[in-house]
Amino acid sequence: MTSKHYDLIIAGGGIVGLTLANLLADSGLKIAIFDQQSLNLPTLTQDYELRVSAITHASQELFQHLGVWPAIEAMRLSPYTKMYVWDASNEAHIEFEAREVAETNLGHIVENNVIQRTLLQQLIKSSWLDLIPNTTLEKIKLSSDGVEVKMTNGQTLSANLLVGADGINSKVRELAGIAVDYQAYGHMAIVATVCCEKSHGQTAWQCFLPDGILAFLPLADLHTCSIVWSCDTSVAERLLRLDEPAFAVALQDVFAKHLGKIELLSKRLSFPLAMRHARHYVVPRIALVGDAAHTIHPLAGQGLNLGLADALGLAQVIIATSQKQRDIGLLANLRAYERWRKKENLSMILAMQGFKALFGSSLPPLVWLRGQGLQLVNKIPMLKHFFVRRANERLVNARQGIPYNEQKDGSI
Ligand SMILES: Cc1cc2nc3c(=O)[nH]c(=O)nc-3n(C[C@H](O)[C@H](O)[C@H](O)COP(=O)(O)OP(=O)(O)OC[C@H]3O[C@@H](n4cnc5c(N)ncnc54)[C@H](O)[C@@H]3O)c2cc1C
Repeated sequence: MTSKHYDLIIAGGGIVGLTLANLLADSGLKIAIFDQQSLNLPTLTQDYELRVSAITHASQELFQHLGVWPAIEAMRLSPYTKMYVWDASNEAHIEFEAREVAETNLGHIVENNVIQRTLLQQLIKSSWLDLIPNTTLEKIKLSSDGVEVKMTNGQTLSANLLVGADGINSKVRELAGIAVDYQAYGHMAIVATVCCEKSHGQTAWQCFLPDGILAFLPLADLHTCSIVWSCDTSVAERLLRLDEPAFAVALQDVFAKHLGKIELLSKRLSFPLAMRHARHYVVPRIALVGDAAHTIHPLAGQGLNLGLADALGLAQVIIATSQKQRDIGLLANLRAYERWRKKENLSMILAMQGFKALFGSSLPPLVWLRGQGLQLVNKIPMLKHFFVRRANERLVNARQGIPYNEQKDGSI
């Protein structure tokens, strides 16, 4: 069997895998990406895609650094200038506005296929990259100087490093024998596109209900929102059984006072939600990024943003290692990536668990506490600014292109 050799193979051409490839464009490395799907440019239609992401300023800066942000802007996105969060149990609420922190917006809602298209468009004609569609991983064989990857299309490739960017059920993670800490949230997320009688006012709306969290994310059209309803699995199953008008009424019961009459514009998709955290992000010759390394509750819209930061961290480590003409697949050289990203991702995972526990409880003391907490933060500008800034922390490294490890201690 012939085995073509690369410096790096990326399993998974989702947004995180494609971002990593774009970050490595000028590295001089020879790269292959394979995916079980087609890797054709996604077709954009008038209808909004059901999968959308809240993109932070940090991720926007990363896309600007890659040169894809103008194309994303030209296709379709929706800036949000305000967040309005309330607790249905006690009507306490908190509002954040971009102008309070001297920003023009707090982030953007972007359809996933828009991001994917712009990232792919920049890669399709690259001579340093092979895109291998419609195949999945079958086997990996590790040796001291490389990794061999066998795919279901019969091809075998070899590389110095294999990156698992292959999502929540990562086959790379499984074949590498990397254990995962797993905790089901007991929640399922329902997503859909809806039309609202009143303008969404470029506001990201989120309501904490006794049995879940309902978010309305503003889309480019001022009367269209993407909804994410994360709720107890039994509640989600009941909501999915409702016909369209009855489901719209269920949305209206929560949101009518802000957005008026609601109409469903799309089918509903649902996703079981669980926290997953790989015990290791790197083992010899293998690294994990994005959902392959971690999944979190979508309540704060951070999963993809964390995955993009992984791609940036790993790219920086790979570039620094390769510039020093060292082996990019050696565990000792990959560890800097794991040290940086695992700590940050873990703190977000813990924060989401705390949030879900606090807001998922109907115990009267907790209901009172969160009501007081929300009102307090809402009244104290300094605290509000802290939360807005924390939610939008910028990756200065992305803009400057400086390997983060060199800023800190000069070593990898
Ligand atoms: C309801 C919901 C709402 C969300 N909202 C937000 C949000 O607002 N903001 C945010 O930041 N995050 C959000 N997230 C999280 C975000 O969607 C994910 O974190 C992100 O899409 C993960 O990207 P990825 O590239 O790591 O994985 P994926 O998008 O899953 O890509 C993996 C790729 O690998 C391919 N693949 C899988 N297995 C194989 C295999 N064996 N062989 C070859 N290829 C394979 C797949 O075809 C796919 O192309 C949300 C998640 C959910 C469920």
